[in-house]
Formats: sequence, C-alpha cells, structure tokens
Amino acid sequence: AAKRAGRNAYAVFDPSMSRSVLEEAQQRVDMERGLAEDQFEVLYQPVVDMRTRRVTGVEALVRWRHPERGLLSPYCFIAAAEANGLIVPLGRWVLRRACAQLARWRAETPAAAHLRINVNLSARQFQYAGLVDDVAAALSDAGIPANHLTLEITESMLMADITAAIETLGALRSLGVSLAIDDFGTGYSSLSYLKQLPVDIIKIDKSFVDGVDTDPDDHALVNAMVGLGKALRMQTVAEGIETDAQWSVLRRIGCDHGQGYLFGRPADHATVLGLLTTEDLPAAA
Ligand code: C2E
Ligand code: MG
Ligand code: MG
Ligand code: MG
Repeated sequence: AAKRAGRNAYAVFDPSMSRSVLEEAQQRVDMERGLAEDQFEVLYQPVVDMRTRRVTGVEALVRWRHPERGLLSPYCFIAAAEANGLIVPLGRWVLRRACAQLARWRAETPAAAHLRINVNLSARQFQYAGLVDDVAAALSDAGIPANHLTLEITESMLMADITAAIETLGALRSLGVSLAIDDFGTGYSSLSYLKQLPVDIIKIDKSFVDGVDTDPDDHALVNAMVGLGKALRMQTVAEGIETDAQWSVLRRIGCDHGQGYLFGRPADHATVLGLLTTEDLPAAA
C-alpha cells in the first residue's frame, strides 16, 4: 500500500500497520526460539475402524507449549508460520517426530504392528521443492514402512496449481505413502479434479458429521461423499464424531473409519500406547 501511495507514503507510518509488522517480526523470533528450544509437542488422536472401533491409526496434531502463553492450539500459530515460512521447518519437525514415535510404538508392542500415522501438510510445505526428499528421509531415518504413513492435504492446496499438485502427489505416492484429502467438502474441488488425483482417502469434514444423525441434508451429503469414495476406490474417514448416534448412522452409511472425541481426544504417546495394549484384553464380563 505504501508503495502504491508513492510520494504520499504516509502509510508507512500508520501506527496500526507498523505495530502489526512489529508483531509479525516478534512472532517469528518467538517461533524460531520455540523450535530451537523444543517448545513444540505432538499429540496423537486415534482413528478407528468404524465397525469394531479398534484403533487403526493416529493423526499427529501439533501444539506449542509457549513459556508465557501456555499450551497453544494450532489455530493460534499455523497461519502465522505459513505466512512467515517457518511452517517448512516446523512441519518437517512434526513429520520426523511422528515417524519416530510410530517406530517407538512398534518397538514397544506387537499391537502397533499395523498402526498407521497421519501427518498434516500445509500449503507452503506442499509447494516446497524439498518435500519429497524430506518425507523419504523421515521414513528411512525412523525405519518405518512407507505404507504406514498418510499425508493429509486440503482441497485448496490442490487447486492452486493442479498440474504441479498431481506431480507432487505422484512423487509422494511413488515413495509408498498414502494420501488423504482433509476437511473434504469444505473446498471447491470439482469431481473431474478429484478423479485425476492420486489420492487414497477422503476425510469427511466435521461440519457434515455434526448433523449426520439429525439433519437430512447432512445425512444425504455424507451418504453421497461415502458413495463417491467407493466409486473412486478411496477410503472414507469421518472427522469429529462425538456421539454414539453419529457413529451408528455413519456405520450404516458405510464409512470405513472414524475419528472424534467419542473414540479419543488428541493424547500423548503414553496414552496411545495404553489404548493399543489394553484393547486386546477380553471385555469384562
Ligand atoms: P485437522 O487436520 O482437520 O484435525 C482435526 C481437528 O479436529 C483437530 O484439532 C482435532 O483435535 C479436532 N477434533 C477431532 N475430533 C474432534 C471432535 O470430536 N470434536 C471437536 N470439536 N474437535 C475434534 P486441532 O488439533 O486443534 O488442529 C486443528 C487444525 O490445525 C488441524 O485440523 C490441522 O488443519 C491443523 N494442524 C494440526 N497439526 C498440524 C501440523 O502438524 N501441521 C499442519 N500444517 N497443520 C496442523
Ligand atoms: Mg488433519
Ligand atoms: Mg480435518
Ligand atoms: Mg477439520
């Protein structure tokens, strides 16, 4: 704006603007220190088989344990990290941490032998030229099979440049990892794009799951999304399941997997280990 204003570049001295520039710079420094000082953490939320409710995987969800502001949700810092570019090292750190944690669970219990891990990618990470090498290195350094990792992307990340996106997705898939479209239904991807995408999993957004048992429109939409998944040979995961009523409707619709507070909140590694190892015990009489 200041540039366009030319000689009348008083915008540079707009106090609200300079404050926000300062704040951004401060946040960047803060975040760099957070990375250097190990203030970020990863929690893991169970993904379950819809019929059996057994844990088949976990989604890695980042948190920032800020020294002054307390435990921060990704909604407080992912967008800023995306804007200042730190999402690339932060995302790489989450990916490496998640792969290493999966290796640890696999070493700790045979119950983790089939466990899969999901990691969210941001738009900037997806466009970063080193992504495929980062993923390959994370897998080999952790020593986990590539087909136990799922990368989650959103529709908007694909729409920016569909040709480039298909190429990146293809390269990731060549490594052997699975790909999921996160928050499905909230973007604007067309069916013809969806058909071209080398994607394995559709994650149906919570906003449709909320009313699946009460709102006929939501029910119809979720039913259509599960049908679409089947038609395109993609697995479906329903996000944000909170009640037994939602679960039973989704199971009837034929959704493959589910995720939500009903089955488990994002939890630390020890809690997940507990879930995995107690699950096989016979149910109490
Ligand atoms: P997402 O990938 O769609 O993850 C699901 C979010 O829904 C998580 O929020 C999870 O805690 C929440 N959730 C799951 N089940 C329920 C439920 O039953 N009820 C309700 N109310 N919420 C539920 P969280 O952990 O706050 O993460 C928010 C978003 O931040 C994620 O949405 C994802 O887009 C982003 N995010 C998280 N970790 C990362 C990361 O490592 N990298 C990137 N790029 N983004 C991340
Ligand atoms: Mg996700
Ligand atoms: Mg989601
Ligand atoms: Mg979501």
